[in-house]
Amino acid sequence: MKFATKAIHAGQEPDPTTGAVMTPIYQTSTYWQKSPGEHKGYEYSRGTNPTRTALEGCLAALENARYGLAFSSGMGATDAVMKLLRPGDEVITGDDLYGGSYRMFTKIFANYGIKFHFINLSDPETIRQYINGNTKQVWIETPTNPTMQIVDIEHIARIAKEHGLLLTVDNTFASPYLQNPIDLGADIVMHSVTKYLGGHSDVVMGALMLNDEELYAKLRFIYNACGATPGPMDSFLVLRGIKTLHLRMKAHCDNGRKIAGFLKGHPKVGKLYWPGFEDHPNHAVAKRQMRDFGGMISFTLKDAALEDTFAVASKFRVFSLAESLGGVESLVNHPVTMTHASIPKEVREKAGVADNLLRLSVGVEDIEDLLADLEAALG
Ligand SMILES: *Cc1c(COP(=O)(O)O)cnc(C)c1O
Repeated sequence: MKFATKAIHAGQEPDPTTGAVMTPIYQTSTYWQKSPGEHKGYEYSRGTNPTRTALEGCLAALENARYGLAFSSGMGATDAVMKLLRPGDEVITGDDLYGGSYRMFTKIFANYGIKFHFINLSDPETIRQYINGNTKQVWIETPTNPTMQIVDIEHIARIAKEHGLLLTVDNTFASPYLQNPIDLGADIVMHSVTKYLGGHSDVVMGALMLNDEELYAKLRFIYNACGATPGPMDSFLVLRGIKTLHLRMKAHCDNGRKIAGFLKGHPKVGKLYWPGFEDHPNHAVAKRQMRDFGGMISFTLKDAALEDTFAVASKFRVFSLAESLGGVESLVNHPVTMTHASIPKEVREKAGVADNLLRLSVGVEDIEDLLADLEAALG
């Protein structure tokens, strides 16, 4: 099946008891057993729930994976992957990570004796210098947040394979519509489903998609044992959201391209980050591994201090000043005080997250209204 058909149908069958075409919200924590141990495949909803099972089938199909696991948040999904590690193990990851991932690695897992190397991954060969006998995992994000660097997934996957390292790609920014890391050699794809997959800013959820059966069994064990699994109502909302993923993503990309074009050369704009520009340092890699360039754009305000940046951020009327991304509505975010506040100043400035940086999640509204709003805010 092709993408749109999978988005609408994968994992979902008419309900066996009633014929309901839409997957019902199985709002139950437990399931009747005919005699002890004799049940219909469901025992307790922390481990399995039919609405979630349908969603997990759909999530797996979208990433061309055999297995999908839904978690109660993106961080819950990340946590499960890190729990595969033991004290003394080492992880190589990027220096421009989602703030919450950086916080979890440095403030939680570092306390359990796990060592993280945060490095610039624009040249994948760099990771070889950090691989040693203790290295177990590589964790990457592409495009990165918020400076939209592109990491060559296929190249990193080749090095990871050579050394027997588990490679996870946080594919939140691209969504499965634009990029499928498993097809490029990654072992696990992680999503903050909260973003493009959910698509309507009304659910917090995460997911892992993967092919290896043994790894799936380990992660499913952690999922049930540690319990960060989503409820049936949220699973239903995401199944519903995914049905328009392909339509929304096309609109995000079209509006994103127009806004990137508008910002390029605007007198108030300093640095501009969007992988669709031919002069983006990894444009060629982006073109190869992505189907389009998405609706995430970051830029700095030329010669603006923190107060000036706040003033511009507060002037938007169609874009909402808010954290998060990937919903149908356009958002503007100030990474330094919002999404990236948990990253120390020196670390974040090294990665280009400056006081005068703004990040746009371009929604699917009429482009004329978005451009007029930007023009007014920048003016
Ligand atoms: C939001 C986000 C996360 C965390 O997901 P939650 O659903 O908020 O827990 C992880 N990675 C990226 C790139 C994100 O944007």
